[in-house]
Amino acid sequence: ATPTAVMVATGVGANNGVLIKGGDALERAQKIKYVIFDKTGTLTQGKATVTTAKVFNGMNRGEFLRWVASAETSSEHPLAKAIVEYARHFHFFDEPSATEDGKNNSKESVTSGWLLDVSEFTALPGRGVKCFIDGKQVLVGNRRLMTENEITIPTHVENFVVELEDSARTGILVAFDDSLIGVLGVADPLKREAAVVIEGLQKMGVKPVMVTGDNWRTARAVAQEVGIQDVRAEVLPAGKAEVIGLFQKDGSVVAMVGDGINDSPALAAADVGMAIGAGTDIAIEAADYVLMRNNLEDVITAIDLSRKTLSRIR
Ligand code: ADP
Ligand code: MG
Repeated sequence: ATPTAVMVATGVGANNGVLIKGGDALERAQKIKYVIFDKTGTLTQGKATVTTAKVFNGMNRGEFLRWVASAETSSEHPLAKAIVEYARHFHFFDEPSATEDGKNNSKESVTSGWLLDVSEFTALPGRGVKCFIDGKQVLVGNRRLMTENEITIPTHVENFVVELEDSARTGILVAFDDSLIGVLGVADPLKREAAVVIEGLQKMGVKPVMVTGDNWRTARAVAQEVGIQDVRAEVLPAGKAEVIGLFQKDGSVVAMVGDGINDSPALAAADVGMAIGAGTDIAIEAADYVLMRNNLEDVITAIDLSRKTLSRIR
């Protein structure tokens, strides 16, 4: 493309909140064959909410949530934030005894002294968290985390998790020492425009794919809701870039749309990396396009812009 064409397209993009980093990216976007979407925060709103908290060993639910929230409080993961938020809410509204001394009635003061002391906290990417509370090992995360720590998942627990996953929720398992004692269900709704955009891409001859670190069942349920047939699930953070490579093998031009820190290697590996939303600085840096409005329609805008600009000058 001529410098003028690039300048015009860049200007039109900027007016729509689509920042294009240079003419090469603009040219490549024209030939995109696959768009690989991250699930969490990209196709979904990234606003995880706990919908279920189930305790299997008779422990008081408020106490269970206090333990789980204490374990998750140092994690940056959106799932962790959802859990802490839920536990805090539960504690504040369902367990008013904490304020019965009449001294501390504000929400802030109730919650500040409420978490338990945690030692040896470790965040395990693609798995969950591990720590010690009151001499007990606490694990909060997915099946992989449990399996790697030799925790057996009883059949009734597995059935409960499967039920959550089939309804597009993520099941988070909780173990104290070597027993599995509870499960949380977390929902993260699709963005409103997601299904329409997927249909639009298909009409343009572009194949949408979903990639996620989440489990296969949840991934399939979400993919079905949004209309994506091709899904890659249980992909560890480092594996997303490899997935891009698989689609590039026959020389196809591959775009990746993602928002998180986890996604930056994949954004960089893709022929066209698109960072969506406020994103993280590192994702924005790795990307060729930044979709500022956090609206998936801009994936179509970006491809359209490239196709139209370049066809006009040929
Ligand atoms: P995504 O592709 O959705 O960004 P991640 O690689 O961040 O996925 O996480 C994959 C899975 O690992 C999550 O769906 C969850 O099951 C588990 N996980 C990761 N971090 C945590 C955490 N802090 N607490 C609980 N589970 C977690
Ligand atoms: Mg993500």
